[in-house]
Amino acid sequence: MGRPNDYAGDLRWGWQCPRCDADVPVTRDAGSETFLWACPTEDCPSAGFGFSSRRRARIALREYREAYQNIYR
Ligand SMILES: [Zn+2]
Repeated sequence: MGRPNDYAGDLRWGWQCPRCDADVPVTRDAGSETFLWACPTEDCPSAGFGFSSRRRARIALREYREAYQNIYR
């Protein structure tokens, strides 16, 4: 797992959906004041929401990607 701060430091902009490799944007939900990411591809179910910061959303996307690859390897 490593230290959270180092983990986040490895992340770069331009993350891709683990299912379809589309670029996934992180956006801020003005209503709940949380951050979310969602794959822009129609009929692709990849999404995450409810993160307290953009960085946490990025970490979650990376974990999602790693979990997905572990399952379908
Ligand atoms: Zn996708």
